[in-house]
Amino acid sequence: MTSLQEPAKHLKAKGMKPGGRRPAKELCSECGLCDTYYIHYVKEACAFLNQQIAELEAEAHGRRRNLDNWDDVYFGVHQDMMQAKKKQPIEGAQWTGIVSTIAIEMLNRGLVEGVVCVQNSKEDRFQPQPIIARTPEEILAAKVNKPTLSPNLSILEQIEQSNLKKLLVIGVGCQIQALRAVEKELGLEKLYVLGTPCVDNVTRAGLQKFLETTSKSPDTVVYYEFMQDFRVHFKHEDGSVETVPFFGLNTKELKNIFAPSCLSCFDYVNSLADLVVGYMGATFGWQWIVVRNETGQFMLDLVRDQLDTQPVIAQGNRKQAVQQSIPAYDKEVTLPMWAAKLMGVVIDKIGPRGLEYARFSIDSHFTRNYLYVKRNHPEKLDAHVPDFAKKIVEQYHLPNS
Ligand code: FAD
Ligand code: SF4
Repeated sequence: MTSLQEPAKHLKAKGMKPGGRRPAKELCSECGLCDTYYIHYVKEACAFLNQQIAELEAEAHGRRRNLDNWDDVYFGVHQDMMQAKKKQPIEGAQWTGIVSTIAIEMLNRGLVEGVVCVQNSKEDRFQPQPIIARTPEEILAAKVNKPTLSPNLSILEQIEQSNLKKLLVIGVGCQIQALRAVEKELGLEKLYVLGTPCVDNVTRAGLQKFLETTSKSPDTVVYYEFMQDFRVHFKHEDGSVETVPFFGLNTKELKNIFAPSCLSCFDYVNSLADLVVGYMGATFGWQWIVVRNETGQFMLDLVRDQLDTQPVIAQGNRKQAVQQSIPAYDKEVTLPMWAAKLMGVVIDKIGPRGLEYARFSIDSHFTRNYLYVKRNHPEKLDAHVPDFAKKIVEQYHLPNS
């Protein structure tokens, strides 16, 4: 603990300039911590230098995952899960706008003085611009995903400087891991954490390549999502929706666009947030809510009357599809579009749904990422891969090299 007479050690540190090589080197996800004097804690706090999900889970939620319970193994510590959607969706939100709605409600009720979220730059709708929002309008201007690495924690110095005491942070797993690690140093009375799942993120240049390789009209895309119907849905400026089956994606071209941080990430479900809002454990059109602790329950209750909800379901069996995807990814298999469309239709009819779809996505990404770390950073493999992820990967047969 730092006494009043003794200024915190981090105040003497200096954040790095944009563009400089960060301590995690190529694995850096540009979470923003190193842009601030909290870089002082980077060796302990960085998700890619010091994986400590289990320890931080115990601090944030009062317990670690129970590795004998498969729901805990897959979805993290939780006390409730459900499907939900807003009765009146927010126009232009990523899904129905549950995240923005919770943030606005917390600000309007005076529960927080600011909300860390990410808007976009004036010139580019996908260029992230993290801010501390102080008004509902500023929160609304941050709606919809910026599907690029975003330095959300670059605003951390502003918290201390503006003497904020009650804060909501919205963010993805790597940002939240570093945030939890420095939480005690922020001088806050109360921190609320609202997370989203996150996977396969890219730099802004990588995003451009993805859009140009996959969409018929890359410049007019305002939103996209890898949906539960095994298609990428691109929404365009004129409101039209273009769909491309996952199995028709140009694996060879796209393999290199994902950030190395995301190819070595095992925190898909945002283990350390109080409340997680995604979609992958829900059926088509619904969002997926994971309540991790009492703080998360409190946040959800604030907007409960604005939501339709229904229980989560699980249907189908993902295992064979995941096993087949492992060599297919390695061999860079891309199906002709007609075959990809056909396969998409079939798998949509008989494939995994609800929580089983979420498990399909987690398994596919964890097996791929395990191989990535094993091949590219073998010295990190044991400490960097959390025990829950090892348990998931062990269900599959992986190539030896
Ligand atoms: P909105 O009300 O539209 O609010 C979106 C919020 O996201 C905003 O507050 C904004 O500050 C924040 N945000 C936007 N971009 C970023 C960013 N780059 N980093 C941090 N915060 C950001 N869900 C799944 O179930 N499976 C997935 O594979 C998955 N992948 C995702 C990948 C990325 C990069 C992101 C940002 C989210 C992902 N999600 C995923 C979450 C999902 O797409 C929605 O964001 C979530 O369901 C909330 O929708 P909403 O309509 O309630 O959000
Ligand atoms: Fe720093 Fe964050 Fe990059 Fe780690 S991921 S090196 S904490 S900016």
